[in-house]
Amino acid sequence: MEKIIFFTGAGISAESGLPTFRDSDGLWMGYDINEVATPDAWRKNRNLVQEFYNMRRRDALKAQPNQAHQLIARLEDKFRVTVITQNIDDLHERAGSTRVVHLHGEIFKMKSDRDGSTLYDIKEDIPFGARAKDGGYLRPHVVWFGEAVPEMESAMQLVQDADIFVVVGSSLQVYPAAGLAHSLSFGVRRFLIDRNPPPSAVDYGFEVIAKKATEGMADLVDLLEG
Ligand code: NAD
Repeated sequence: MEKIIFFTGAGISAESGLPTFRDSDGLWMGYDINEVATPDAWRKNRNLVQEFYNMRRRDALKAQPNQAHQLIARLEDKFRVTVITQNIDDLHERAGSTRVVHLHGEIFKMKSDRDGSTLYDIKEDIPFGARAKDGGYLRPHVVWFGEAVPEMESAMQLVQDADIFVVVGSSLQVYPAAGLAHSLSFGVRRFLIDRNPPPSAVDYGFEVIAKKATEGMADLVDLLEG
């Protein structure tokens, strides 16, 4: 079976009602990311960060996978599909994808801000000031700007082995994640689906499908199966 990697960003979940932030002047749902998505923000104003991610968790819970998530899952019938996502929502899993790597963590998991090695499932809000067993504060299991990306190495290995690489809904501006799209072996067929594709995509040899994710994925399936 041919191996396809889907590298997805916030744009794939936009049609499920979860807005991206790079499309709205660097604000994420009205918040400056420096105030809600950095270790410094957590040190300065834990409650604000907690409140922000509690809202994101509620939004993700309400959202449903869209046709783009579903078509990716369906391709598992014919290809060895792995999804490497920058998203913290669980829409790929709920659409039926069985191999999903979350580079930037998962909103439905939490951990201690002291020793983050144990993950706990969470569907509700994390209460302000809630502590973990080790005495640290409970925080969402998401990778903030400026933090290491623990899954990066295994993602890199998966990408080295790909036959086809498809970017869906990512500005390719968030590093190190975006580096995956620039480290493909020669000869790997590569596509990029984005409503507003990054101009550098053509330089990196991508076949660009300049459409929203649901329409672009339908085109891609026709191309791959046609
Ligand atoms: P991003 O850098 O991946 O950029 C979003 C991209 O999606 C843009 O290129 C835009 O043109 C494209 N896009 C927007 N709507 C689209 C649509 N309907 N169809 C196809 N493409 C579309 O993402 P970002 O918003 O800048 O976020 C960066 C980071 O923030 C993510 O990597 C993630 O960690 C976090 N984030 C996660 C979620 C989520 O989990 N759903 C949502 C927002 C932000």
